[in-house]
Amino acid sequence: MSKGTTRKTTKSGEALQLKKLRESLSLSQQALSNLLGVSLQTIWRWENQEFEFNPKLLNLIPILHSEKVPDWCESTKKSRADVTTLLSHVKGCEQCQMVLFYLDLKTK
Ligand SMILES: [Zn+2]
Repeated sequence: MSKGTTRKTTKSGEALQLKKLRESLSLSQQALSNLLGVSLQTIWRWENQEFEFNPKLLNLIPILHSEKVPDWCESTKKSRADVTTLLSHVKGCEQCQMVLFYLDLKTK
């Protein structure tokens, strides 16, 4: 798929960001697919705008690349909140959303 006529304007920036991020971390598409646990074809499709991806991925990749995993924010860790409380908290908390995104990616 070439750049130009079929470009989906809303996602092209993100697809390019993904590719640049991957390259800046010196990851091949294969290495990134291993890191995320998705197929090589999926990576290709993300970068070529055939599949949309959650922009949170752009924040998750550097975390995983440094051999860490996303973690709940301090307030969630301290509060031992029940699910209902956690759900309402997560809506406004980027850090906790990242954990859920990671769990979702890894449990599919
Ligand atoms: Zn939080």
